[in-house]
Amino acid sequence: MVQVQEEIVIFVHLVSNTQILHMMITKTKAKAKLDKALSDYVRKSNADENGIVNCFTCTARKSWKQVDNGHFITRGKMSTRWLYKPEEGLVNTMPQCKRCNGFLGGQQFVFAKRLDHIYGKGTADKILLMSNQTVKFSIAELQEMTAHYNELFRNLRN
Ligand SMILES: [Zn+2]
Repeated sequence: MVQVQEEIVIFVHLVSNTQILHMMITKTKAKAKLDKALSDYVRKSNADENGIVNCFTCTARKSWKQVDNGHFITRGKMSTRWLYKPEEGLVNTMPQCKRCNGFLGGQQFVFAKRLDHIYGKGTADKILLMSNQTVKFSIAELQEMTAHYNELFRNLRN
């Protein structure tokens, strides 16, 4: 009897671990889809009628398809990972050339200066504070944001 109970306990653990693992995978995929949707929208919506964007930190002009969606605060901080509200002056992502975003490590200081210049003094500090808050998005919320940015992207002129 004791043996059977132990086996049941082990079985229940296995099932719940599998469910947790499944949810983690689903969430990771949902985050990746949102990353892609926001990246497409941010890069293309900042392009001119010829599809050219200025790198946010060095102003190099490139096709929106050749640049990254660069972050001021690292993508590791969930509360600001998808923060893109230009109308509210809160923007943590902007098109960035691969040199600035990769080789030059993101150019965070320049990024901050540019944010303050465009959206007003103190903007970078405000985003930095927001990045340290704990915000947990549900899978449904991530999917909702993805659908929102995909729709905005579809509505952009070509
Ligand atoms: Zn650049």
